[in-house]
Amino acid sequence: MPTCRSCGHDIDWATMEASGRPIPLDPGPVDNGNLAVVNGKAHAYTAEDEKLHRERRRSHFATCEFADQHRTRFVPPRRKPSQRSE
Ligand SMILES: [Zn+2]
Repeated sequence: MPTCRSCGHDIDWATMEASGRPIPLDPGPVDNGNLAVVNGKAHAYTAEDEKLHRERRRSHFATCEFADQHRTRFVPPRRKPSQRSE
């Protein structure tokens, strides 16, 4: 399973149907999720999705403690210098 590069949380990847951009999702359905995913494409959860009993998913942006970084772009964690020269 892929993991978030910022916090290391397990995530699933989907593509936003509207924008075509990849979006990280928290794994598994959640009660208060606001997204539905069909064939790997995510869209805002609608009454129709409810009718079809689609799972509610939630963007990892909503829960990631490093969400601010995600909003700009995924940034690989900075490498700390292994040793400081003194
Ligand atoms: Zn994260």
